[in-house]
Amino acid sequence: MSNVVTRFAPSPTGHLHLGGARTAIFSWLLARHFNGKFHLRIEDTDLLRSKQEYTDSILSSMRWLGLNWDGEIAYQTARTDLYNSYVDRMLANGTAYWCACTPEEVDAMREDARARGLKPRYNGHCRELGLGPGPGRCVRLKAPQSGRIVFDDMVKGRIAIDASELDDMVLRRSDGMPTYNMAVVVDDHEMGVTHVIRGDDHVSNTPRQILIYQALGLPVPVFGHVPMILGPDRQKLSKRHGARAVIEYEQDGLLPEALLSFLARLGWSHGDQELFSREELIEYFDGGNLNPAAAAFDFDKLEWCNAQFMRHLPIEELAGRVAPFVRSEGLYEKLGSDPAARLAPLCLMFRERATNLKNLAASFRPLLVGAQDLEYSEKDRGKHLNAAGAGHLQALVDILASLPVFDAKSVEEALNAYVADNNFKFKQVAPPLRTALMGFMGGSHLNEIMDFLGREETLARLQRAISLAETADGKN
Ligand code: GLU
Ligand code: ZN
Repeated sequence: MSNVVTRFAPSPTGHLHLGGARTAIFSWLLARHFNGKFHLRIEDTDLLRSKQEYTDSILSSMRWLGLNWDGEIAYQTARTDLYNSYVDRMLANGTAYWCACTPEEVDAMREDARARGLKPRYNGHCRELGLGPGPGRCVRLKAPQSGRIVFDDMVKGRIAIDASELDDMVLRRSDGMPTYNMAVVVDDHEMGVTHVIRGDDHVSNTPRQILIYQALGLPVPVFGHVPMILGPDRQKLSKRHGARAVIEYEQDGLLPEALLSFLARLGWSHGDQELFSREELIEYFDGGNLNPAAAAFDFDKLEWCNAQFMRHLPIEELAGRVAPFVRSEGLYEKLGSDPAARLAPLCLMFRERATNLKNLAASFRPLLVGAQDLEYSEKDRGKHLNAAGAGHLQALVDILASLPVFDAKSVEEALNAYVADNNFKFKQVAPPLRTALMGFMGGSHLNEIMDFLGREETLARLQRAISLAETADGKN
């Protein structure tokens, strides 16, 4: 396919949510796959609910996800005259007409149709009256009264609607403002859009929009209506399923590439591959394999997906990404004069256990606070910092203090020798040592932890743990 043009058209009435983000991703991918264009349009005509802060937030989430758009952003509120120029064209070519019916009259028509067991609709009262403009008058489409409107949806397949199902919809309200469907058709045409991908909550608008294209003699784009994302219980997706705005996932420390891959996989597949790089998505996504059934959101899978991406990021890259989170944990100053040099080993030690950048940063805490500020888990302290534990720690203080070189390798050898030479078991020695170093029974390899802390800090922790063990024993 050549000259593919797609667009994303959010309404700035809230932050970018998962469903919107996925629609944007599919549109963006289709354009990037075919070397086409991807445009952005802000549908801000709902003046009461649209807010600049939401536009800013949506744009920021798009940038964060790497969904770069082409050209200028179109704002619908700035295009009223353009829309009306198309309405004028339709009035001139006889596919639209002025209607003088009052809202009360139209309500009465609907009521009447309903009473006769028909669909509530405008009855075409002014269709042949040849009225001109006037106060309180709107413009309606002179819709065909028979025939079928048929389109082949990229996701749902062939959709056909009887023209008799649709009434003469309003194109321009009596206050001079174009209606939503009118604006969308003009925009998509003006922007050269060839493929409209959007949520299937808009599928009922599509036959109406097709009628407008036809009335204007314009080519009709291809449509793809993506089903909504459901919760794991197949109910409407909500916060209680772990669904949040994209901006909140960013604040939680999700990697944008992980969310991108995860969302693309919700409703689209490529064999049984689960994780995709940005480049792979662009290569494989050609608009095929879109699932017409609603996909269910699975938060555990998103976490898993993110953990996978964290594991495969180059370590310096991960260190750079976690840095802002270390700062919000209040730990950045504790990294010393060369923060990057300290962050890389921390990332290496802890990334296998983390599911996002925020909990990765938090997991650094025990290694970044000083010995005196280390917090102990009551449970692990009670269990492991006892007389026997203190005995091991005291012996290790002596050994570690006199090591000629203090690094991961020498510390490991010394530890192994201590256990072997005395016929101890590792599981007698490791728990008090781990509790002394980390404050709890977690963390990474003991020798790496000690290497990171350095000799002085390691010994300080062991000493503090010994004195805690003694006070505990004194109490008993
Ligand atoms: N502004 C609409 C929405 O946010 C999108 C309409 C469309 O894509 O045609 O749901
Ligand atoms: Zn009328």
